[in-house]
Amino acid sequence: MRIGHGYDIHRLVEGRPLILGGVEIPYEKGLLGHSDADAVLHAIADSLLGACALGDIGEFFPDDDPQFKDAASSDLLSVVIDAVKEAGFEAVNMDINVICEAPRLMPHKLAMRERIAELTGLSLDSVSLKARTAEGLGVVGRCEAIEVHCTSLLRSIN
Ligand code: MG
Repeated sequence: MRIGHGYDIHRLVEGRPLILGGVEIPYEKGLLGHSDADAVLHAIADSLLGACALGDIGEFFPDDDPQFKDAASSDLLSVVIDAVKEAGFEAVNMDINVICEAPRLMPHKLAMRERIAELTGLSLDSVSLKARTAEGLGVVGRCEAIEVHCTSLLRSIN
């Protein structure tokens, strides 16, 4: 067994769609980034890479590479899952913590879990997604950013 932790933060800006966990969430702002800036899928990818000591998504997908401009993070995650498989591991479960002042994520949690389960090949009950606010504190509390942590457990497939 291996365990990995992933973390990501992206700035919330006007004029971008808000995509979290592969799901577009209606909101007046979206996350800024070179790709679609899906901080949930980025944190998942980093947790998987971390468990296998394969580096981080910045090494896989440099943010100055035009190839990844506006890339769908679901495509990036699928490349990471292939690399993890190549290294001889597969995910067992993951626990995701999204820290977001607004919008309220409660109505979208199930759709995000379903999409993540689809992308990772995990069953729905192996994908936990928790959402919390920052109680008005810091950049997240001021609605300037969304922050995500993910812990993943992996098992050897060899
Ligand atoms: Mg990111």
